[in-house]
Amino acid sequence: MSKKRVGIIGAGPSGLAQLRAFEAAKKKGFEVPEVVCFEKQSNWGGMWNFSWRTGVGKYGEPIHGSMYKYLWSNGPKECLEFSDYSFDEHFKKPISSYPPRPVLFDYIQGRIKKDDVRAYIRFDTTVRWVNFNEATKKFEVVLDNLKDDVTYTEEFDYLVVASGHFSTPNMPYFKGIEHFPGQVLHAHDFRGADPYRDQDILIVGSSYSAEDIGVQCHKHGAKSVTLSYRTNPIGVNWPEGISEVPLLMRFEDDIAHFKDGSSKRYDAVILCTGYQHKFPFLPDELRMKTKNNLYPDQVYKGIFFNELPKMMYLGMQDQYYTFNMFDTQAWLARDYMMGTYKLPTKEERRVDMDKWLRANQKLESSFDHVDFQTDYIKDLLSLSDYPDFNVDKVAVMFKEWLKDKDEDILTYRDKTFQSVVTGTMAETHHTEWMDELDDSKERYLYMDESNDEMEFTMEKNTL
Ligand code: FAD
Ligand code: NAP
Repeated sequence: MSKKRVGIIGAGPSGLAQLRAFEAAKKKGFEVPEVVCFEKQSNWGGMWNFSWRTGVGKYGEPIHGSMYKYLWSNGPKECLEFSDYSFDEHFKKPISSYPPRPVLFDYIQGRIKKDDVRAYIRFDTTVRWVNFNEATKKFEVVLDNLKDDVTYTEEFDYLVVASGHFSTPNMPYFKGIEHFPGQVLHAHDFRGADPYRDQDILIVGSSYSAEDIGVQCHKHGAKSVTLSYRTNPIGVNWPEGISEVPLLMRFEDDIAHFKDGSSKRYDAVILCTGYQHKFPFLPDELRMKTKNNLYPDQVYKGIFFNELPKMMYLGMQDQYYTFNMFDTQAWLARDYMMGTYKLPTKEERRVDMDKWLRANQKLESSFDHVDFQTDYIKDLLSLSDYPDFNVDKVAVMFKEWLKDKDEDILTYRDKTFQSVVTGTMAETHHTEWMDELDDSKERYLYMDESNDEMEFTMEKNTL
């Protein structure tokens, strides 16, 4: 009998977690299905694979990446550590709790390189369309080989959608914005704070992108940053130079007018107004339809599409937990695909989903959100053999992180935390975050503190 085939869409942290999960089973002696992962970019890592481009890539595909120069982890690395591949194992020495993007990208790659799974990934390949054939019970996946400009179709028994959901901008309209004379862009196209030096910047939104892009612009020399909120302000102790105002109502030329009657002139506007879950390759009957939230409807255990559980989604919830959550999902999805985890009936699944949805609706504070996602991870951990980790301790760290940000948004990244995987206490970084203008891996890891020079001894990342 031929092997079952699994298709994975996307080689970001979620798709890579799925590949790793199968490799872990293989190492334990299990026979695994044939796995193929499709990635439209030329490299793995998803968001963490920085793109200098905006708009479209070299083959005309919409650019996936939303990360920017000078992006540092916005949560402690101890909250996202893989429990089967620690920071100690990768870096061989303690590092700080808030590494910059290239360092986390390196960490993600370290685990997956150990398994040599690159051969399972078809790069420069976009999933264009999916059809579920009721007669054969297989997914027919239409693929574009972008390099050779060839379109072809393959069949799979299971499909894992790991295509991310922070890539397609939500772009609201504000009256008069079309006449604003300066630059107007969405956070998705922000590639670094340098262009905004000495400028007055308006940011719309009050979540993580607004907070971090605002702070980045401040750090790299913007004259002023105004954050405009719709529902709730971020409400931290802002330093001089950053302020929060109620919702933007309209523009008159370069003057923005706000709900509280105030107004101000700006050089540039950055819409940090979130993203849309967008699956242009999926038909109605297979497509998750949701806003960004902690428990999207339609998926049992946050993974299995209830109408057709052979179709799985990874990483589609709003995220406190990231890499370790994708792992716990991928391990369970793997066990289902390998027949070692049996799903309850559709009706039973619906009852369970409704229970979580009701709990989600009752959440009020950020602490509640952390606790909710902590419970979700615990539930998943109880169902697979993903190496257990102290999730309650991670929840405590998340709450400390929230408090640290409230106290001082400019220094919270200088704090350190203890790993729940190895017990290692993080190092204090050699330079305070506000003074650190270089986010390269070389400077981060190899600065020689005695003479202030860097040792470029480490092999450069050639990918
Ligand atoms: P993604 O990383 O988005 O990867 C999805 C992959 O699918 C991409 O490689 C994409 O090219 C591919 N793909 C999409 N469509 C197709 C298609 N049709 N065919 C083929 N391939 C396709 N998390 C943290 O833990 N810490 C942080 O500091 C942090 N900072 C962030 C900063 C920003 C600006 C953003 C937007 C997110 C940040 N995140 C952070 C969250 C981040 O989304 C997750 O860490 C993680 O990247 C999600 O992994 P993923 O694999 O689910 O999705
Ligand atoms: P988000 O968390 O979904 O927040 C969207 C924001 O847009 C909310 O504040 C929302 O306000 C606002 N908004 C939506 N429509 C609006 C409208 N019409 N008018 C005014 N405001 C509107 O999205 P995000 O902030 O882009 O974060 C996405 C992900 O990126 C998160 O996982 C985050 O951790 C990550 N990130 C990380 C870093 C880092 O430093 N490492 C930096 C940036 C982003 P309401 O509250 O009113 O809905």
